[in-house]
This record gives sequence, C-alpha cells and structure tokens, in this order.
Amino acid sequence: MQPYPENGAPKSIVILGGGTAGWMTAVALSNHLGGRGSSKPVAIRLVESDDIGIVGVGEATLPAIREFNAFAGVDEAEMLAATNGTYKLGIEFVDWGRVGNRYVHPFGAHGRPIGGVDFVHHWTRARLAGEAVGAIDDYSYAIEACRQNRFQPPSKDMAAVESTYSYAYHFDAGLYSRFLRSIAERRCVVRTEGKVEAVEREGDRITALRLASGERIAGDLFIDCSGFRAVAIGSQPDDAWEDWTQWLPCDRAVAVPCARSDDFSPYTRSTADTAGWRWRIPLQHRTGNGYVYSSAHISDDEAAAVLLANLDGEALADPRPLRFKSGRRRASWNGNCVAVGLSSGFLEPLESTSIYLIQAAVTYLVKYWPGAEAGQAVLRNAFNQAIDFEYDRVRDFLILHYWLNERPEPLWRRCRETPPPESLIEIVDLFRKRGLAPSRRNGLFAAPSWISVLTGQGLSPEGYDRLADHTPFEASLAAMTGERAQIVRGVAGMTTHADYVGRHAAGMAA
Ligand SMILES: Cc1cc2nc3c(=O)[nH]c(=O)nc-3n(C[C@H](O)[C@H](O)[C@H](O)COP(=O)(O)OP(=O)(O)OC[C@H]3O[C@@H](n4cnc5c(N)ncnc54)[C@H](O)[C@@H]3O)c2cc1C
Repeated sequence: MQPYPENGAPKSIVILGGGTAGWMTAVALSNHLGGRGSSKPVAIRLVESDDIGIVGVGEATLPAIREFNAFAGVDEAEMLAATNGTYKLGIEFVDWGRVGNRYVHPFGAHGRPIGGVDFVHHWTRARLAGEAVGAIDDYSYAIEACRQNRFQPPSKDMAAVESTYSYAYHFDAGLYSRFLRSIAERRCVVRTEGKVEAVEREGDRITALRLASGERIAGDLFIDCSGFRAVAIGSQPDDAWEDWTQWLPCDRAVAVPCARSDDFSPYTRSTADTAGWRWRIPLQHRTGNGYVYSSAHISDDEAAAVLLANLDGEALADPRPLRFKSGRRRASWNGNCVAVGLSSGFLEPLESTSIYLIQAAVTYLVKYWPGAEAGQAVLRNAFNQAIDFEYDRVRDFLILHYWLNERPEPLWRRCRETPPPESLIEIVDLFRKRGLAPSRRNGLFAAPSWISVLTGQGLSPEGYDRLADHTPFEASLAAMTGERAQIVRGVAGMTTHADYVGRHAAGMAA
C-alpha cells in the first residue's frame, strides 16, 4: 500500500454521502480546515443522492456529542430546536438479563468517592457485611432524575452532587442532517446532487468519482460516508471486513414512529424481547420506536407485529425494515480514502454508539490530518489503530449485555453459550473479584457505564478495593446515607423534562 499523500497535504476534499456521517464530517472539517471562499486553502465538496436517501434512524446519542458540538461549532439550543430534540440522561434496560429485571445505565457516577476511594467499593463493603444499602442505582443522581422524569443541566460546581452527571440528546435524524447541512453550506461546503456510479483510481489512490450525469469529481482525499453501501472504501484494494455476528447476532430492525405520549422521559428505553430488543426514543413531536432482532429467531412480519403491539401511541407511518451486520472494516483509512459512519462499520444500535463513532473518526482525522511532510503512513496507521480500539471496546460493552443473561429463549441461550472475546472476560473477572471497572482512558465507556451494566445484568462484586477499609465502616455508611439524601433533595428541586424542553429547546412541534 502506498503512503498517502505522495505529493503533499490534501487541498481538495470530497465527502461521498450526506447522511449524519457526511454532514457531521462536513461541519467539523469546515470548522477546522475552511471551505471554498475561506482564507484557508482547503476546498470541501459533498456528493449525495436524494434518490438513495439516508438510513435516517440514528436518533439517540451519548454525552460525547456535546464535545462534538464544541469541536464543530454547533450551538446546542439551535440544534435541539431545529431537530425537535430532547435531553437524555441514560438508557433504561427492561427485561435484560432476565424477564422482570429493570436497571438504568446513567450518564454519570454512582455516588462520589469516599475517602478518595470510588463509591462502588464502599457500597460493596457494606453489602458484603449484610447492610441494607439498596441497589447501587439509588446513589446515581441521573437515575433518580430519570425515575422522576426531571431534567436540568448539571451544576458547574464540582463539589455539588448536582455536578455528578452528564447528558446527551435524542433528535430527529432527518432533521439533524438538514440542520448540519445548513451550517456546512454557510461555511462554503459545496453540495452536489448525484449518484456515484464509478470510482476512478490509480492503485490504492482514488482520483475521482464519476456521477451518473457524467460529471467527474476529482479530489485529493475522499471521505466515504456512503453508509452500508461503502461505495469508495469497499472497492479499495486489500479492503477486509471483521465479522462480529457470532457475538452480536441481531441483523435486522423494523422502525416506526408513534404519537408522543405523556411519558416524556429524559432517557431511551431498551426492552429485551424473545428475539432481540425494542427501543423507545421520546422526541418533541413523536416517539421513535424500533425492534432490533435476529432474523434466525423471528420472521420480519412477526417482528413488525410485536413492535406495533407495544407502541404507547398511534403509529404515524408504516413499519420500515432495515438490515445490517455487526462488524468493522479492517482499515477505515485505506490509501487516500477514509471511511466514516456506517461505511466503516456498525455494532447494532444498542447503547447508541454509532454517532459517537462518527464523531471519534472525524476528531481523529483532524488530529492525524495528512500534512505535507514525508512519512504519512504513520498518521494513517495511528488513525486506524485509534478507530479499531474504539470499535473493539464498544463491541465488548455491547456483548456484555447479551452474554450475561438468564433468559430462556433460543437467541438468549445462544448468546450466553458463545464464549466472548478474552478482553471482555478479563473485564468481567476483574469486576467480579474486586469491583474494578475500565476507565474512559480505555475506550468510550467510563467505569460508571460498565458498573451499571455489570450490576444491572446481575453480577455483584465478591470483593472490593481494600483501600476502602481506611475509612471507618460507620463513617462510610453515614457518607452513603448522606449521598442518597442529597440526591433525593436535589432531584426534588429539578424541573420536569417536559418543562425544561419547552423553555429551552422548543422546536416546531413544541
Ligand atoms: C436500526 C438502526 C438504529 C440506529 N440507531 C442509532 C442510534 O440510536 N444512535 C446512533 O448513534 N446511531 C444509530 N444508528 C446508526 C446511525 O443511523 C448511523 O450511524 C448514522 O445515521 C450515519 O449513517 P451514515 O451517514 O453513515 O449513512 P446513511 O444515512 O445511509 O447515509 C449515506 C449517504 O450516502 C449517500 N450515498 C450512498 N450511495 C451513494 C452513491 N452511489 N452516490 C451518491 N450518494 C450515495 C446517500 O444518499 C446518503 O446521503 C442506527 C442504525 C440502525 C440501522
């Protein structure tokens, strides 16, 4: 493979695709590199086809998207109003692990450290001593707010219990693309309507895209955001795919919006079902719903019927089928082509990680942007390693939900009987023995996320960090009781999610 570029930093960028990935890339790059007409010498052009359209179902995000807004120069309130967006404090899991089980993966901590030692160790010590300290969920500010459908942004006072959580958004995916497009076009990104029919290349170096109209779009660097079609990256020499369907067997989804209900919750709900799971995402103007399933375990018609039978409002459209497979490309940056979004890989929608992976790719691309100097391969390799790491850690986190289960149905039996990756076994063993969980340094999800899913799926630590013993037992218990009381008081003073959206993010439907 030839190092890229052979002749200097790219001056002309072509983005293929105008879904969430394409327009997020365009907005971020135009903020950092400048577009046509800017004093910065990089031209950005985006090609998309209205006839093909977008996948249009990425409606739930993670708190990292707020960093993307800052990185790309996007205003939160403007964005929420334009996309009929709402706030998200976490994900509620219903019937995961076993039927009747219920827990929340919160965007925030379970209690603050006591004596400099993470709360989970004090909670474990008390639990192992037979104290009635309740579930670890009771010490999460975000979870308490979810239980009461309340929302307000976290406090900036890092000493306050109100600072111990974060938040993300739910939004209408179609409106989000349109919103980003309006920003990118104001920043001189040039959009071309048309279907790419051929990719012209010399070796592993793409020289131009050929449209059905005959137009030829040349460039130095091509960013493939063409979704599952992977039009450019998929035809690069040495392109290879890593398949993860043995661990993540869901391969289809059916989606349908329904009328907004009174249960206007600041969280996504994910309900496990016989052959997969159903999502529920509250927006200002409607509720998004879907059933993600394994086609080996339920028919498309049955899946659609299960979804329609479980809506909490009138269906607003016909059920829409989608197909996918879990896995990733071996090299997201190959030659002078970088895959961003579904063209680089997909890990099924559980835990809403796909938009985060777009953000990570764009951020790493800016970080490892090809310069004029020699030795470009090192930048490309660093990018690919960073992306692989992100994908692999998300993979392990998602498999955890499927592997640790006691459900009786064939899909779920298969999931718990399939040995997971070694990396996940290590994480689970360390938590089981000592209550230790991976930190954010080691990938997308920080310790509270792992703790919520590990405990939520039924695993309790058998030991704890002995440093917790430096705090006298009674003092530790008193600190835990105090934490819970502060959370209850704080949440009681919050406004409802519906009120907060109405006052700060009202879109066209509010
Ligand atoms: C069932 C399901 C649920 C999901 N839920 C979530 C979620 O809650 N949260 C989350 O973060 N992510 C979610 N995702 C993932 C999310 O939808 C995608 O990551 C996101 O929409 C980005 O898609 P994309 O832009 O890569 O592709 P697409 O939206 O498919 O866009 C592809 C673009 O490429 C263009 N194109 C393709 N071929 C050509 C061609 N030959 N010529 C010209 N243009 C072309 C299309 O016109 C389009 O503009 C979900 C995905 C699925 C399948």
